[in-house]
Amino acid sequence: MTSPALRHDYAAALPEIVRPWSPTLPPRPEGGRGPELVAVNDALAADLEIDPAWVRGAEALVVLGGRGILPGSRPVAQAYAGHQFGGFSPVLGDGRAVLLGEIATPGGLRDIALKGSGRTTFSRGGDGRAVLGPVLREYLFGESMAALGVPTTRALAAVTTGDRVYRDGRMPPGTVLTRVAASHLRVGTFELVARSLPQDARAAVLPRLVAYAAARHHPSADPGPGQGLALLDAVVTAQADLLAHWMSLGFVHGVMNTDNTTISGETIDYGPCAWVEAYDEDAVFSSIDTGGRYRFGHQPAVALWNLSRLAESLLPLVAEDPNIAVSQATSILDQFGSRYHQAWLARLRAKLGLPDTRDEDAALVDDLLAGLADARADYTSTWRLLAAHLRGQGAPGVPGVSEGWLARWRARVPGDPRERAAAMDAVNPAYVPRNHLVDAALVAAEEGDLAPFERLLAALTDPYADHPHRADLATPAPPGFTERFVTFCGT
Ligand code: AMP
Ligand code: MG
Repeated sequence: MTSPALRHDYAAALPEIVRPWSPTLPPRPEGGRGPELVAVNDALAADLEIDPAWVRGAEALVVLGGRGILPGSRPVAQAYAGHQFGGFSPVLGDGRAVLLGEIATPGGLRDIALKGSGRTTFSRGGDGRAVLGPVLREYLFGESMAALGVPTTRALAAVTTGDRVYRDGRMPPGTVLTRVAASHLRVGTFELVARSLPQDARAAVLPRLVAYAAARHHPSADPGPGQGLALLDAVVTAQADLLAHWMSLGFVHGVMNTDNTTISGETIDYGPCAWVEAYDEDAVFSSIDTGGRYRFGHQPAVALWNLSRLAESLLPLVAEDPNIAVSQATSILDQFGSRYHQAWLARLRAKLGLPDTRDEDAALVDDLLAGLADARADYTSTWRLLAAHLRGQGAPGVPGVSEGWLARWRARVPGDPRERAAAMDAVNPAYVPRNHLVDAALVAAEEGDLAPFERLLAALTDPYADHPHRADLATPAPPGFTERFVTFCGT
């Protein structure tokens, strides 16, 4: 059995913005249960070429449970800043996370990090801990997104710590999530360097950070004197694609602060996220998002706002003349809208099985969505019902979809209807992490029954194939559930 070989590229390249820090969970409580592996992602371990026997062994239980480190490894807590709900915090950082190191894969480096492994130098008033429900929530959402082809951080393992952690009058089981990410570089990392470091350190670190981020995530970005602009350009495209993907699926992130906006274009931090059932642009689920800043339909605008904060941070590396730098950065930000819209329309066309591109497609899509929103029809199942309609299966109509619209659409999908329908089913999931299902799985897990979590995970990781024994996982929540559904910030 071999332990994974961890590298420490990030810490070596950017020592000014990390703090050496080892996980700090106390030893097993007297008489209490020891750490237990409650979930492990064998497929991801295989992708990372981590020995499956290691993940299930004694050393992993210590390391992934936050109680000890791999011999010779040098974990760090990462510093970052961030705009949270529009207000700037000059120093946030890993308050309950630790970067154990990176693993080299054919697709580039992957961060291996723990979440919930105890207090760090950045914890402020927090306890540095995570608990079972939110950890399994992040696990389910991340694996669902990965199966749907959405760039995302992923869960490698969840380890309960054997103790309990105080949360809102309750004592749920302490749990550590092992998170794998293309990196943890975020807009807030750039904000920290550009705004929070001492003046002389800014000038020293910013070019190194930009070069590091470009080499790791956007190697085709021009490494020349306008490197800041090239990186901005690449991140604008990555985020426009990501937002188009979220919006095409009905995903609400819930806390799109700049510290939760990655440079890689991966989805990160599944705290108060949710899935829409009705296509409701005003849908808000997070208990703390009282102003609806992060409501479903506002997400692309927020992404652009966050990218504007990245652009500001990059200005010194865009051009020497500040006026020129601003105008060049603005011209890139101005392209977000069209890049987003094109990516979104391409996804909607694929969802509708349209074989080619026509000018009137945008109107076809808009009219469909307006009808679905008015009828509060279930967004996810609509696409599967449309494919069934094409095959001549199921009920004759589709809820929320008019006869007139169906006729317009059918005229746009010529050829063998079974082939078109199969193409639609290959991009329209039958199974998504519906809020009521996730909730029920987490409640059961806290009561010691992991079966609903495992059953839901199996469906979410095979989202396109209909299975009659999973029919209950493809149906909307009981009436009123989604309207009342509230999410919390995953602490
Ligand atoms: P998040 O909402 O998870 O993106 O976290 C925002 C900031 O709060 C980050 O700096 C986190 O490290 C920190 N934070 C969140 N929860 C805790 C906690 N339980 N203990 C310490 N820091 C936390
Ligand atoms: Mg975060």
